[in-house]
Amino acid sequence: MNVSDSERVSTLLESEGFEITSDEGSADIVLLNTCSVREKAEHKLYTRVGQIKPGGKGERLVGVMGCVAQLEGETLFEKDRGIDFVVGTRAVGRVHEAIRLAGSGKGNVIDLKGREDDYDWTVADKSRHSPFVAFVPIIEGCNKFCTYCIVPFSRGREKSLPASEIVRQVLDLRRTGVKEVHLIGQNVNSYRPGTDTGLEDFRGATPFSRLLRAVAATGIERIKFTTSFPRDFHPDIVDAIEENDNLCNWVHLPVQSGSDRLLREMRRGHTIDSYKKKIDRIRSSSREISLTTDIIVGFPGETEEDFRGTKELVRHCRYDAAYIFKYSPRPGTPAAALEDDVTDQTKTRRFLELEEIQKENVRRSLSNSVGKVYDVLAEKASERDDDHLSGHTTCHKVVNFAGNGAVPGDICRVKITDAKSNTLFGERV
Ligand code: SF4
Repeated sequence: MNVSDSERVSTLLESEGFEITSDEGSADIVLLNTCSVREKAEHKLYTRVGQIKPGGKGERLVGVMGCVAQLEGETLFEKDRGIDFVVGTRAVGRVHEAIRLAGSGKGNVIDLKGREDDYDWTVADKSRHSPFVAFVPIIEGCNKFCTYCIVPFSRGREKSLPASEIVRQVLDLRRTGVKEVHLIGQNVNSYRPGTDTGLEDFRGATPFSRLLRAVAATGIERIKFTTSFPRDFHPDIVDAIEENDNLCNWVHLPVQSGSDRLLREMRRGHTIDSYKKKIDRIRSSSREISLTTDIIVGFPGETEEDFRGTKELVRHCRYDAAYIFKYSPRPGTPAAALEDDVTDQTKTRRFLELEEIQKENVRRSLSNSVGKVYDVLAEKASERDDDHLSGHTTCHKVVNFAGNGAVPGDICRVKITDAKSNTLFGERV
């Protein structure tokens, strides 16, 4: 979501006449996009501002956007750190106005309003990480209030973009040469567009699976979506994937813990049993769907038995990738009131143990791919070798391959010949 927000803000600023530079030394304005999911990211912000404007002094303007901006607000101006303007999560469409006010000497400029009703839904066109891949935000905010998480406070309540608008954006992207769209949101499968659905012609058990079928009908080559919330993950999503070749073979379903007791404490709204049933449906699909997840180790009160449950679950699910985090309390969340009683040493040990199990899952998943042929979207020249291209399979695995005349933007049939750490290697067939 943050990468998407940065791209959309860059696009907006370019269309407002600003020039984007990656050379920080020559910039008149530096805008920092921030994340507050973990404690470290907040600390990094203050260090970075100090590097950009040592002692809070200098001509250039420094702005902060994103979750830290939304949560910290006015306090970011304290201690004369050198921050000139602050733009909240729902005000990204007005960054140019904040810059102009700050540039005209208005002093500390702050815009945190419009959190629910004024979200900017534009899709980045000029400034994107790839000309062939685009993020399309379909739902913003979160209503789930997992006890450890700050996102519902920083991003506000869930708001969905009407399906007709999403379809229009995907058609526009397709016309400009985009091959792959990522439908994104904190919880895409909680998608609820209200009365203006634009989905009347599409069958589906939930608004999200109807939306998937509607986006598939645009004919865009590839559609990925992330993140899915386990409680709202309906098996009909897998049906939709099986019916449409352009819905990619990848589901990201964060489980967080393998202990029912901790899942209750986290207020996740699912149990291990209900989660496994969904995984079993995904794994039994005729399509080779890759499965990825997020896991927290060291949540308050996590016992060795709870952790054993997490290890068993990770072995059972054979995740293709897992993002493992050590718990850190976020002030203002219900979990922050609990005693953070798992020592850092124990958190690190559990992190490493889980990482070891997951490495084996990844090794097995990648080596199973060797000898198979996949469709790979060539996104760029490989960093190691100019004759090679780098891209993703529909199951979101990275492949470096001998292009044999292919160019970025092509979707190539690639035979996998080798697998190392997190990357597949192959050649075009
Ligand atoms: S679903 Fe839970 S973890 Fe995900 S953003 Fe919402 S509150 Fe945070």
